[in-house]
Amino acid sequence: MSAAKIEGSGWLRDQVALITGGGSGLGLALVERFLGEGCRVGVLERSAEKVAALHERFGAQVVAVQGDVRSHEDNARAVAATLERFGSLDTLIGNAAIWDHASGLLDLSPEQLDHGFDELFAINVKGYLLGAKASAPALIASEGSMIFTLSNSSFYPGGGGPLYTASKHAAVGLIRELAYELAPKVRVNGVGPCGMASDLRGPTALGQEDKRIMDSRSPEAIASILPLQFFPEPADFTGPYVMLASRANNRVLSGVMINADAGLGIRGIRHVAGGLHL
Ligand code: NAD
Repeated sequence: MSAAKIEGSGWLRDQVALITGGGSGLGLALVERFLGEGCRVGVLERSAEKVAALHERFGAQVVAVQGDVRSHEDNARAVAATLERFGSLDTLIGNAAIWDHASGLLDLSPEQLDHGFDELFAINVKGYLLGAKASAPALIASEGSMIFTLSNSSFYPGGGGPLYTASKHAAVGLIRELAYELAPKVRVNGVGPCGMASDLRGPTALGQEDKRIMDSRSPEAIASILPLQFFPEPADFTGPYVMLASRANNRVLSGVMINADAGLGIRGIRHVAGGLHL
């Protein structure tokens, strides 16, 4: 399937979004897409180089704050900087995460499991929780929405090891609980992408801080397991976020997870894709 050319719909005109991990991969594609849809964008990003690159490229359209999603203070600074620059907040996109390079239970020592769990869950789960906490007052005031990046690992095993898969399942529970607690003011939803080339790295506790996803996966291997049989780009996943963030197009979805995974759930047991026989 060839990449689609995306035209801005204007669905997010005059809205404001805060995106965690907006410095590369899916987060950066979301920054580009949301700007194209007329949104103004704040970013919380750990890498100082990526923050500098965002400022260089987007200027005053983006307010990028260097900080760590594991810190409440850093989340609060990012919310405050976004509010100060743009005056309100309509959408939080919790997106920053790390992977475990599919390290299995039997691959890891007890010490690696112990420290790897603490590091990975602190970013992938606590980071979402703290982002929600810091942005909730502004989102209640604007009657806005939260969107969290899930994964095929939120639903199926084998896309990560137990640390990553459990963390992405935990994010499902977080979405359901927050959607319940924050209704009727704030809609809370998730988008679960499948594999893509990005800067996604692993925990320092597993010695994977410089190891990127494509060091462990190939485009061919990813495409071959997807019924739609192509290797998606980060931009391919951005449409569901636009729809969920749009006030006009999403008045009714809350507590919903969109599986943006090129059909993984209908993979079946006989062939990779029945459509190949057409
Ligand atoms: P990425 O590494 O390119 O983007 C994540 C960004 O988050 C990076 O810029 C990184 O510097 C930042 N970050 C990491 N830890 C942080 C922290 N503690 N505080 C602040 N920022 C931090 O990777 P990506 O693939 O674009 O990941 C985005 C989301 O997509 C993640 O939630 C990931 O789980 C999910 N996802 C990715 C894939 C894939 O194949 N790449 C598949 C399914 C889901």
